[in-house]
Amino acid sequence: MREIGQRLCIVKGVTIKRYIDMQKENKQCQSCQKSFTIDENDFGFYKKIGILPPKICPECRAQLRLYFSNIRFLYKRKCDNCKKETISMFNASKPYPVWCYECWWGDNLDGREYGVEYNPGESFFEQFGRLWNSVPKPAIIHTRSVNSKYLNYTADSKNCYMITESSNNENCINCHWIQLSKDLTDCAFTNKVELSYEVDDCYDSNNLKWSKGCHSCLDSYFLLDCRGCTSCLGCINLRGQKYSIFNKQYTKEEYDEKLKSLRLDTYSGIENFKKEFANFIKDKPRKFAEITNAVNSTGNYMVNVRNNKQCFHSYDAEDNAYSVHVWRGAKDCMDCNTVGRSAERVYNTLNTGIEVSNIICGSVCWNSQFMEYCLNCPSSQHCFGCVGIHNKKYCILNKQYTKEEYEELRAKIIEQMKTEGVYGDFFPKELSPFGYNESSVMNEFPLTKEEALKKGFKWEDTERGTYGQETIKWENFPDSIKDLPEDFNVNKEVFFCVLCNKNYRVIEDELSFYRKMNIPIPRSCPECRYTIRFNNRGPNKLWHRKCMKEGCDNEFETSYAPERPEIIYCERCYNQEVY
Ligand SMILES: [Zn+2]
Ligand SMILES: [Zn+2]
Ligand SMILES: [Zn+2]
Ligand SMILES: [Zn+2]
Repeated sequence: MREIGQRLCIVKGVTIKRYIDMQKENKQCQSCQKSFTIDENDFGFYKKIGILPPKICPECRAQLRLYFSNIRFLYKRKCDNCKKETISMFNASKPYPVWCYECWWGDNLDGREYGVEYNPGESFFEQFGRLWNSVPKPAIIHTRSVNSKYLNYTADSKNCYMITESSNNENCINCHWIQLSKDLTDCAFTNKVELSYEVDDCYDSNNLKWSKGCHSCLDSYFLLDCRGCTSCLGCINLRGQKYSIFNKQYTKEEYDEKLKSLRLDTYSGIENFKKEFANFIKDKPRKFAEITNAVNSTGNYMVNVRNNKQCFHSYDAEDNAYSVHVWRGAKDCMDCNTVGRSAERVYNTLNTGIEVSNIICGSVCWNSQFMEYCLNCPSSQHCFGCVGIHNKKYCILNKQYTKEEYEELRAKIIEQMKTEGVYGDFFPKELSPFGYNESSVMNEFPLTKEEALKKGFKWEDTERGTYGQETIKWENFPDSIKDLPEDFNVNKEVFFCVLCNKNYRVIEDELSFYRKMNIPIPRSCPECRYTIRFNNRGPNKLWHRKCMKEGCDNEFETSYAPERPEIIYCERCYNQEVY
């Protein structure tokens, strides 16, 4: 509060105009040195929750947060409690105690056993760091899973395999960020989609393949930004069409014939069509942002939102800022990565959703309220600086207090943190348990090992996966899924990625899915497929640009960088083009 406090003194002493001037401020980021703006609404939010305004820019804040999360890199290691082999975000070389899912989420762990007394002679973060390193960490994070394997940061999955950051899904394989979906393989950021392959950013659709940005579409291939289309192939910006190929209308018979001739059951047929489609969309206009019903909002990939500022991937949410994955009822959240299911008033957190409110700086505090600087503390209230506490109240550094003692000590620590100028800052990067290259930050802010080390991040040198152990050769492999023998035993085979050379496996259910969908086994590894989808979404960043339609002067904030080749239109010009 120091900075705001000083401003308020000025208000009393000088004039109201001075107060207004002070409300919007350009600052220099103390990390990347670029300038950034803190506006009236930001200040209002900081004041409301009582924290100091940030010293680093929104991008550096996101980078620091993401460095604390490893969602997709899973290893095998032993549980430090029951000693059984388990799947874990932490590889065997990490020095921290790690407990398997059953032990960590069971009744075995009482985080209060690790509690320490706050020492006013030492910084909060130093004391928190020791606690963080001593309390067992959950190997993976998921809840209410049925017959599923390799899940992380998921809830309510049934018959799923390798699913991350998702909830309420069934029969899904290799997917990231999917909700309320069924029978998907290799999909991301989809909501209420069924029986689909390689789709991204799709809603309320069924039987789509290689499609992006579609709503309410059916039985189609290679669609981009279409609405309400059925049986279409290789189309962009279409509304309510049937039997269209490259945006041109055909009869059902012509459509069926053409589809058959493309041989999309073969690897070569798909590779050829991908090239043709990329060529076809080159000169077609794109909307400046993938947003639908976004009132007074800036960002990308938003549906049904209001007053969202610089939010990326958000739906059914309002009054949020500088956040990514803000969904299903999130309100008044700032600087959050993955916050939803009625989350309210949350600041600077990672993966903190499901009926949470009043959370400042933390991660995985599901179903918790009034938590500050807490990591992995589900179903708790009024805790400060805690780790691995379940279902508790009034704890500080994992030590139990009475309500009165808690309030007194909390106020004292906050005062001290404000004096040091750190109340509201995320945890210092030294406390991340991950290497830069295994944490979620790597996709969004890629760095080389040298760059990462120079900036003070750690690097994980443990090699994941194998090379050169493939049992199949692609040059001898059937081009069509139809030519794969019935008795092909996929469990025995090791494949190799044509992009990174790494070995990978295909599970039985996945092969059944490819056979059912009549599409070939992919020739790149799941991680390369994920990275391609991720990069196709564009950066979570905005540039101020002008509409490229001749004669239109409309301006907007867009994730298409000025040097991008796409033709970018404002909403009005785009709608004239597609409807
Ligand atoms: Zn910065
Ligand atoms: Zn265990
Ligand atoms: Zn690969
Ligand atoms: Zn325009």
